[in-house]
Amino acid sequence: MIEIENVTKVYQMGEVEVHALRGVSLNIQKGEFVTIMGPSGSGKSTLMNLLGCLDVPTDGTYYLHGQDVSELSDTQLAHTRNKEIGFVFQQFNLLPRTSAQRQVELPLMYAGISAGERRKRALAALEAVGLGDRTHHRPDELSGGQQQRVAIARALVTQPSIIMADEPTGNLDSKSGNEVLCLFQQLNEQGITVIFVTHDPEIAEYSKRVIHILDGLIERDAPVDSSLLDCQTSQNGIENLYQGTAALDQAVLGVAG
Ligand code: ADP
Ligand code: MG
Repeated sequence: MIEIENVTKVYQMGEVEVHALRGVSLNIQKGEFVTIMGPSGSGKSTLMNLLGCLDVPTDGTYYLHGQDVSELSDTQLAHTRNKEIGFVFQQFNLLPRTSAQRQVELPLMYAGISAGERRKRALAALEAVGLGDRTHHRPDELSGGQQQRVAIARALVTQPSIIMADEPTGNLDSKSGNEVLCLFQQLNEQGITVIFVTHDPEIAEYSKRVIHILDGLIERDAPVDSSLLDCQTSQNGIENLYQGTAALDQAVLGVAG
């Protein structure tokens, strides 16, 4: 579903050129759980931003679902991003003084979904991440782990086929971090493609494939033998969230197909 070939990214900083990616090629299939791992400054976030259609490469090609991304207009790119990709970041990026339910409803508001349907979808997404009893809580009334789960619910509510997470456990203690990792594993078990960015080798072991990146180049790309995480608790409702999606697809896309 993701095919990039010889992708480069050069940032122009005044007189200086920063070569953040220096020729990266990789394929990611539907249903994979991939970690992009490397030290700080190696180009991980740059690569994720390109894969997530948040930025465009300087050179090289990117095919997403067989479509050459460089041929899409800004509007089409935004539609693709809204429909296909959910983002989770290290800083949870939640709005202050805003309830969990409302945070999760926001992407649906932009997609023009009715209030009743928004509420239903947001509650289902919060339920799916284990926050069914925290829907009226604001960020300052939630723990870090809970805030990140609100952010994950917000990423899920549009039923994306791909979830991209950039250091999502970076601001969490190890217990909350584990819960969040568990959630990503469960999402992946439901068939959602998960692309994870981290500098932490231990976290990478929770996924199924690790792409090592160094100085803007892929150094190694290898499957993980056995995934480390053994999730004890089971979150319910992720399947439900992805049912009856036709109407939403239509609305989020704004066009048919
Ligand atoms: P990582 O996520 O692995 O820490 P990044 O992709 O953020 O690495 O950065 C890769 C390189 O590109 C670094 O040298 C960084 O300083 C540089 N860089 C990243 N974003 C920008 C930007 N917007 N403008 C200029 N340089 C950037
Ligand atoms: Mg980064």
